[in-house]
Amino acid sequence: MGIYRYPVIRPRRLRRTQGIRDLVSQSRLSIEALVQPVFVDEGISGDRVAIESMPDQYRYSVEGVVKFVGELLEAGIKSILVFGVPSEKDPMAKRAYNNEGPVQRALRNIRREYGDEVLIATDVCVCSYTDHGHCGIIVKKGSGYVVDNDESIKILSRIAVSHAEAGADIVAPSAMMDGQVGAIREALDSEGFSDIAIMSYSAKYASSLYGPFRLAASSKPQFGDRRGYQMDPRNSWEALKEVEMDIAEGADIVMVKPGLWYLDIVRLIKDNFPEIPLAVYSVSGEYLMIKAAAMSGYISENQAILEALTAIKRAGADIIITYYAYKIPELLGR
Ligand SMILES: [Zn+2]
Repeated sequence: MGIYRYPVIRPRRLRRTQGIRDLVSQSRLSIEALVQPVFVDEGISGDRVAIESMPDQYRYSVEGVVKFVGELLEAGIKSILVFGVPSEKDPMAKRAYNNEGPVQRALRNIRREYGDEVLIATDVCVCSYTDHGHCGIIVKKGSGYVVDNDESIKILSRIAVSHAEAGADIVAPSAMMDGQVGAIREALDSEGFSDIAIMSYSAKYASSLYGPFRLAASSKPQFGDRRGYQMDPRNSWEALKEVEMDIAEGADIVMVKPGLWYLDIVRLIKDNFPEIPLAVYSVSGEYLMIKAAAMSGYISENQAILEALTAIKRAGADIIITYYAYKIPELLGR
């Protein structure tokens, strides 16, 4: 076909009105597929405290979170991903699997109020609970410290079981420890939680975009960084290996994190593993980029939110975890 022919082919016919554009749109954001991250901080009094690094986001008390979940349900957002912020930290993350820890108490409160109306996923990691801020247990090696993979997955398994006991539907291991999914699956099964699903942070990259989250979840590493366990941003095929391993170990849902700078990875995974639900976590830095751009006055926040999330959907996400979830029903006119 040449660049011009008569009669002219007119793709613009299908772009003429909102109605016709909606009719033929090839990607649709659905609010059922959105997950709102929720921070529960056992150290705050009152309902909530603003998160300095993330405008319009809050940390909730174990009681205050119930009200927030009620607002989400009212708006049509039915799924949450819960992160705990403990008031005590120690090298072994003991508070993370304590029955009276922030996540465990919050889950019981939420379940008591809303039953199965809300779908609860919980982040399973230790970085908010360890005094050193790493995603695993550290041991001395030579002149420095290393994260001990195999000791860490034992603790991650205990955390997952305690979340299941408190009412989680899905546990989401995010530590990027080798074998974490298999260990958690085994622990859940042996404790009678074979029906609790695992959403694995399979391809979690060592990204600059987690900065605002670390303040929100109080999870900043006190020394070193996480490049020893999170994925190298230069790698793409390696994501397939991580996903394949997680599926083999029993993951029910796999995840890519962050979202926007990793849409090639999202597409790669979707094309290679179309059979498994794929979640994408649009992270705190992505949230802040849109907020900051909107503050410049040159970018429309609402338009940018929908465009960014639609791009994630278009790339192949089945599930989108976003700090903007609470706002989407309103933006879609629901
Ligand atoms: Zn972590």
